[in-house]
Amino acid sequence: MKWQGRRRSDNVKDYRGRSTGGGGGGSNMIFALLTMFFRGGITKTKIILVLVVIGFFYFFGNPLNLLNPNAGISANQGQGQPAGVEKDELYQFVEVVMADTEDVWNKLFNELGANYAEPNLIVFNGAIRSGCGGASSASGPFYCPADQSAYIDLSFYRDLSQRFGAPGDFAMAYVIAHEVGHHVQNLMGTSDQVHAARSRLSEEEYNQLSVRLELQADFYAGVWAYHAQKMNDILEPGDIEEALRAANAIGDDKLQKQTQGYVTPDSFTHGTSEQRVRWFRKGFETGDLSQGDTFSAGSL
Ligand SMILES: [Zn+2]
Repeated sequence: MKWQGRRRSDNVKDYRGRSTGGGGGGSNMIFALLTMFFRGGITKTKIILVLVVIGFFYFFGNPLNLLNPNAGISANQGQGQPAGVEKDELYQFVEVVMADTEDVWNKLFNELGANYAEPNLIVFNGAIRSGCGGASSASGPFYCPADQSAYIDLSFYRDLSQRFGAPGDFAMAYVIAHEVGHHVQNLMGTSDQVHAARSRLSEEEYNQLSVRLELQADFYAGVWAYHAQKMNDILEPGDIEEALRAANAIGDDKLQKQTQGYVTPDSFTHGTSEQRVRWFRKGFETGDLSQGDTFSAGSL
């Protein structure tokens, strides 16, 4: 994908290097130091020494900041990035992909006379607390409607290439466009309708609906690629093949074979590899939102 030197989105948030558990490491450490210091008895000299140290920090800076360099910075920046984390190439690439999704979906929503509320993309590593509960990198990229944010650990890029045999930057772009596709479904009310139906459906029927939701997100990813190419000329030879390879590699049938060694169609929630490829391709070939009604399509 041609991405160097292009507009980068402001909606990508860097949450890497942030602990989601506890905090308070600095104060725990001070308490441990004090306990150690006063072991063997509290004397006048020791108390004076502690007061001198506290006085020193009072005049020359907060001791918590010395013990935990990120504390002051993340508190000041709120949503910003922690100190010392470089904006590496992959991160910048993801910002460009998000900018491309914004260009396309703003245009398509405008054409429908609607307003596109841009989602956030939260980049994290390890574990994260989202508006939809806690998640870890192991569960893969996901979209949370409650805070209108997609979440991704950039190590998924390595998984795509090594574990799923789908290398290339456009494989990653497809994954992000798929998550943004879920955001579009959220704005259009499609995901709400599916979730509302849950209580009156059997698990099997609900799974069928989930598959249709997932395939529509793939279709939207294809629609995005079509329009991004037209608007910003993003594609290089081989890009679409990279996306198709990723769609093929992370179909539920393939994933289930990899993890449990056999395939049980009733529990498919994403669609088979063949279905995912077909719906992405349909979106990319037509660029036409009205072709993406995976819910009325008789056969997927
Ligand atoms: Zn999905």
